[in-house]
Amino acid sequence: MTITRSLPGILFRSDPREREVPLVFDSPHSGTEYPDDFDHTCPRHVLRTAEDTYVHELYAAAPAHGATLIGALFPRSYIDANRHVGDIDAALLAEPWPHPLNPGVKTKMGMGLIRRLAVPKLPVYSRKLGIAEVQARIDRYYHAYHVELASAADRLHARFGGVWHVNCHSMKSVSNGMAAEGPGVPRVDFVLGDRDGSTCAPELTTFVRDFLTKRGYDVRINDPYKGVELVRRHGRPRDNRHSLQIEVNRKLYMDEERFERNANFPRLKSDLDALVGALATFVRERARAG
Ligand SMILES: [Zn+2]
Repeated sequence: MTITRSLPGILFRSDPREREVPLVFDSPHSGTEYPDDFDHTCPRHVLRTAEDTYVHELYAAAPAHGATLIGALFPRSYIDANRHVGDIDAALLAEPWPHPLNPGVKTKMGMGLIRRLAVPKLPVYSRKLGIAEVQARIDRYYHAYHVELASAADRLHARFGGVWHVNCHSMKSVSNGMAAEGPGVPRVDFVLGDRDGSTCAPELTTFVRDFLTKRGYDVRINDPYKGVELVRRHGRPRDNRHSLQIEVNRKLYMDEERFERNANFPRLKSDLDALVGALATFVRERARAG
């Protein structure tokens, strides 16, 4: 796999090894390189529960199938690439934010662009953040990630007349008090999100659901996760730009207490290798010859 770390600590990109297809996977939340200036005061092991640890490894087969894989190296708790740039909690800041604010539902639960709570009732910081440090995170990390993903998608769309984007995440096996469905609810194996059918052609969602269901997994669609900023930005099915979020249950691949891969990791990875291959064929059948 050709891994480009053109922006150390920020993101990686793995380019296709085989015949290229207009298929892009991105993993915005699996980064584990905590920047020196993070200065959080909650314990690191609690903060790490925000990571989608190892998710980029689950989709590592992408380049061998002609697809592109992009992932954040920075942790999502430092700045979350899957939020609107104005999704900022004013309560975090030492000074008024100089740009328009657009706080969403997740921000009120402590999980905005810059995370306020590590888990329910546990603040990430014991201080207020300055405007300059938040702006630096946006400029260096958030924008860098979005530019990399958008430039890959735009290049493929120009070459093939369409682009298919899979936004890769994982979810805790049981919800906590910051989850939409409330605390203590066990998750199914996979949740696919297309923002109620608005970010991709329905055939993409159906294809992925049927593939996973045939392999024995429980799959739900848009319940409880519909997809957030990355699929919203990249999914414009009328322009032949399709974007689907996939959330996988962490119990299928990791020990959530120790942050280690579990014994089932190879089985899930093998099923996702097959999914990536099937998606590459799906895309090849629908794209213009490049
Ligand atoms: Zn995620």
